[in-house]
Amino acid sequence: MKQKIGIPRGMFYYDYYLLWERFFDNLGVEVVVSPKTNKDILNRGIHACVDEACLPVKVFHGHVDYLKDKVDCIFVPKFISIYKKEYCCPKHLGLPDMIKHSIDGLPEIIDTQINLRKSNRSLKKSVLYTGKYFTRSSRKILKAFDEAYDQFIQYTELMSRGIIPIHAVGLWENLELKKSHNEDYRSQILLLGHSYNIYDEYINMNIANKLKKNGVKPITVEMVDDDTIRYHTSKLSKRMFWTHGQKIVGGAFSLIDAKAINGIIYISSFGCGLDSVLMELVERKAKEHNVPFTLLTIDEQTGEAGINTRIEAFLDMLEWRDTNEDNFSTYG
Ligand code: SF4
Repeated sequence: MKQKIGIPRGMFYYDYYLLWERFFDNLGVEVVVSPKTNKDILNRGIHACVDEACLPVKVFHGHVDYLKDKVDCIFVPKFISIYKKEYCCPKHLGLPDMIKHSIDGLPEIIDTQINLRKSNRSLKKSVLYTGKYFTRSSRKILKAFDEAYDQFIQYTELMSRGIIPIHAVGLWENLELKKSHNEDYRSQILLLGHSYNIYDEYINMNIANKLKKNGVKPITVEMVDDDTIRYHTSKLSKRMFWTHGQKIVGGAFSLIDAKAINGIIYISSFGCGLDSVLMELVERKAKEHNVPFTLLTIDEQTGEAGINTRIEAFLDMLEWRDTNEDNFSTYG
């Protein structure tokens, strides 16, 4: 019988799911993904996780708790660095340990360490570490990974050409739908923030859909290629050493400079130290270029009515600006 590996639908899932799914599938392992975040998963996470954690970490705990008795093992990588001389948030690094400490009755946790701070060479070690849970053949593991990686690269190239992640929820269901609606939008708004805040429609209360219903096209930084992102962050007075910061700041700067967006909605988790710095940089740039900016902070207490009111007010302000020729504050 095939072994089953659980992949929690949270945190880096939205960035790497396709790579992981193909890799495990190539190894002959059955992949079980937890369902989209819902009330039950959130409650499980709140119950299991420490109070001080940010919302995405709590949600991730909920997904692990959901999977724990349905699979033989759960994949919870320890992300230290995914780019040379850059780092991930300390909570990404501590995630496997937090999970093991907080949730009882877990199956095997595959806590592969990803640390590319010095070079990409350690990736091979991480891949072999992961694959050895399922086969002794290094050759088979590396082949499974290479094939998965090729497909993953094609997928990320599609995203930089304007296609939203296929597995992302709340945006476009498929390419055809996107094409057919492309011309109908009256404006474009950048949904900015960590992928797990932007693409988890339960925790962000499906903001992308709310925009679409109002005739506004949501844009994300996945549409900006890595070279462009890094070109824009290279102009900062201090080096950006968080990889997510590179993407958020560089992506936003490039879209502002290209005059590709009519406004920015930054979705941040309450208490996120990284976001407080990144948001400040983006807000300043938006102000210089007269691009409306608003911040939505989410936690487990956030109510949908409040979010709806903020979005409606922001969209009203954009419309008012359009009809009154830029004679309005940058702030939503
Ligand atoms: S970057 Fe912010 S939202 Fe993401 S895990 Fe760290 S503290 Fe939480």
